[in-house]
This record gives sequence, C-alpha cells and structure tokens, in this order.
Amino acid sequence: CGIVGVIGKENTVDILINGLQKLEYRGYDSAGVYVNDQNGHDYLVKTKGRIADLKKAIGPEVKGTMGIGHTRWATHGIPSDVNAHPHVSADGRFYLVHNGVINNYAELRDQYLQGVHLVSQTDTEVVVQLVDYFATNEQLSGKEAFRKTVQLLDGSYAFLLVDREDPDTLYVAKNKSPLLIGVGNGFNVVCSDAMAMVGQTKDFVELHDGELVTVKKDGIAIETLAGKAVTRKSYHVSINE
Ligand code: GLU
Repeated sequence: CGIVGVIGKENTVDILINGLQKLEYRGYDSAGVYVNDQNGHDYLVKTKGRIADLKKAIGPEVKGTMGIGHTRWATHGIPSDVNAHPHVSADGRFYLVHNGVINNYAELRDQYLQGVHLVSQTDTEVVVQLVDYFATNEQLSGKEAFRKTVQLLDGSYAFLLVDREDPDTLYVAKNKSPLLIGVGNGFNVVCSDAMAMVGQTKDFVELHDGELVTVKKDGIAIETLAGKAVTRKSYHVSINE
C-alpha cells in the first residue's frame, strides 16, 4: 500500500521508518524493510502488524546507506510475516517491494517457475523470482531481467527492486500505481506519496507508466521499457512534514 526507498544516506533505516509512518493513514496489515550498507552487509526485516512492531524487530545491527520499505495491504495471501514485503528471490539476490495486483501471476508462475520453491502466497513473490529466473537462465543483467519481467506483466504495480550484486542502484517501474523520485543533494529517495519524503527533499520527479528508472545516489536515469531515454524536470512542493 505504501512504498519508500533511499540511496545515499547514512540514516537510511530512520528515513524508511519515518516515511512508512507518514503512509500509515492509508491503512496496512504488515510492513518491512531491506537495507544494504553498500559494504557487504544487508538486512531484511518484515512483520505482520504495525510499524511499531517492525521498529521493535529492527535490531541495532541493522544499518544501511540504501534500502527499500513497504506497508502491505494484502490482496494475494493472508497478512503474515512471510507474505509481508520485501520479497526475495530464492538465491537471495533480488529484493522487491510492490504496490498493486498482478493479474497474470499464476500463468507466469506455471510457465517459468515450475522448478522454484515459492515461500509466500503473494503475486509479488512471483515477480521477484521471475527477475532472478531471467538473470540466471538468460544471463541478463539485473536491470535487463527486470525489464523483461515487467514487459510480461498484466496488472497494476509500483516496484522498487534491489540487485544485491549492484547495491549502488535502485530499480523502479510502475503501471497504474503512483511512484515519485525525490531528488536530493548526494542522495535520492523514492516514494508512493510525496508526504513520505518531504522531510528529505521538496523536489520530485513524477514517473509515467511504462518507464524503467535507474536511481543512484548522484543521479537518476529514466527510460522507456523500449529503451528510449526520457528527460523530465522535477517540480517543487511546498508542503512540510
Ligand atoms: N498484491 C500484493 C500483495 O498482496 C501487494 C499489495 C499492496 O499493494 O500492498 O502482497
């Protein structure tokens, strides 16, 4: 139901949690974060229940300079720790948060993932396992595996993806679900609602359906799924936290 992401900030965990709290009013049944310190350590913490429960589950060792967070409003699979996002591919390489509904997830699962053990009941897990499937079986880069996967999907989505093999990048795509990039000085953020990140920046770039966005700490690159580069100016918001 809500998505947040950060790259290039020391206090990533606090920014993610604060951002998720700003989205609480939208309603949710579970929450989770994945953070990576871009120096070989990463952490996945997710739980059914409130953001306060998630905060309690996050130990002092959990630190990162990039990460993604999610509040879930279950559509496929009951509210549970396992069904909470982020979802992770079987080999632990890709981490994904998702707002929306994938209509053809069962067909895609049956077509490509017969050999993969799915641990959750969600449509979202099928997506992250597909990214890994294409990266592994077709030797695609994480970005190209994500592009291929997104092109197969029918449904609504806002996605934030991390490839553990390239922790300097967040990958973003959307269709019929809102997602914005917040532009900072030496960092960038991603959110489903500007309210979640106005404490970090007031400059946002809106994303359109059918775009694939690469977010690094010092820049963003938007392209269409067909690979054509897109330029779009940011807009300034005057709301405060
Ligand atoms: N369809 C996904 C799920 O049930 C995402 C739901 C949401 O938008 O929070 O896990």
